[in-house]
Amino acid sequence: MENETILEVREKDGLLILQGVIRVPYTWAAGAVASRFYAGLRDRRIYGIRCPTCRLVMVPPKKTCHRCFGDLNDWVEVGPEGTLQTFTVVHYSEPELHPLRAPFAYGIIKMDGADTGMTHLIGEADQRALKEGLRMTAVFRDKPEGNYLDIRYFKPVKGAK
Ligand SMILES: [Zn+2]
Repeated sequence: MENETILEVREKDGLLILQGVIRVPYTWAAGAVASRFYAGLRDRRIYGIRCPTCRLVMVPPKKTCHRCFGDLNDWVEVGPEGTLQTFTVVHYSEPELHPLRAPFAYGIIKMDGADTGMTHLIGEADQRALKEGLRMTAVFRDKPEGNYLDIRYFKPVKGAK
C-alpha cells in the first residue's frame, strides 16, 4: 500500500525512539486569518489583529477574540521591534527529535503595538545575557515563502540592554 507505515521502535538513553515513514497526501488551507498573517511574513511584515470591542491586539492574529469572543478583522502592522517576555534555553540535544543542536533558545516576543506575544527561536544572542524586557527584532529568511518560519528567529536589537 502506498501510504504504508513501517515502524521501528528502539530504546536510546532511556527514551523510546519511533522511526518510520508516514505518507499522508493532504491539502491544508490556512484559513483567511492565518493566510493574511503568512502573506505579511512573506513581505517581511508582522501583522496583528485588533479586537474592536476590547482593543486587544493579538499576534499571531486570531479569528475570534479570546477575551470577549468578538469577530476580528481590524488588521494592524506591529513591530518591527518587540520585547522579550520570557525565554528558555535548551541544553539537551536529541537530533533525532529536534533539528537544532543545543544550546538554543526559545522566547515569547511581544511586538510593539501588540498585546500578546509570539513564540519563536532566539538567535544571534548571548544566551547568558537573555533577560525579560530585552528589545528584539525579527530576522527573516532570505526568500520568505509565506509561513511562520519566514522568521528565522528573533535577535536582540543592537545596543539593547
Ligand atoms: Zn476583545
